[in-house]
Amino acid sequence: MKRQAFIAGNWKMHKTTGEAVALASGLVDNLRGVNHKIMIAPPFTALQAVSEVVKGSNILLGAQNMASVREGAHTGEVSVLMLKDLGVSVVILGHSERRLIYGESDKLINEKVKLALEEGLEVILCVGETLEQREAGKENAVVEEQLRAGLAGITEEQLRNITIAYEPVWAIGTGKTASPQDADNMHAHIRKVVAELYSQTAADSLIIQYGGSVKPSNVKDLMAMENIDGALVGGASLSVENFVPIVTFD
Ligand code: PGA
Repeated sequence: MKRQAFIAGNWKMHKTTGEAVALASGLVDNLRGVNHKIMIAPPFTALQAVSEVVKGSNILLGAQNMASVREGAHTGEVSVLMLKDLGVSVVILGHSERRLIYGESDKLINEKVKLALEEGLEVILCVGETLEQREAGKENAVVEEQLRAGLAGITEEQLRNITIAYEPVWAIGTGKTASPQDADNMHAHIRKVVAELYSQTAADSLIIQYGGSVKPSNVKDLMAMENIDGALVGGASLSVENFVPIVTFD
């Protein structure tokens, strides 16, 4: 089945507002007319400025996280309503850095996923095992658990607004990429779990990104795999020079 390629850049905690505007402007200029689905997720502080830059372009504005409730006494958090107000249409949830550094649980992530969908945002839900879990042969079970918990209470209709990003923790920012075959095997497993939870149709139309040291030199081989529909890119999304050839891999 032909699924639309979806390439997303996660800028993490990089770029001041001026730097973010310069990068976003370069991407708008260089990606004009490219047909793939494209998203960039600058840090919160640069969202407003980048929103102005990408307005009317083929680049969607994403956020890297959001709070699990709409508003209230949550010092230091950013709400879905604030993101929507700035023109954000996609939010990355459950990134391994949120899970591992900030202790986000599957339950909290599920609350965020539900709230984002209720508020009309698209979600990129990240899943992935650590090196220890892979070495213990538990990678399929770990990812399955993250998927089942993250998607709890989500309808098949809502699932259409969810992209899954498979990001093995050992491949993030390390320069080590999962082999295209290993990544494809996990993507096939994810599709199987989604077929069990929903339907074969839902599984067939699900967009699954691979993330973890994606760069211009390996994107083509990854994207050639049957079950890999896109990429969630960290380090290599921080420059026009690297991100443009990734988005235009074909
Ligand atoms: P990386 O990060 O491309 O720098 O490995 C990917 C991610 O964490 O989304």
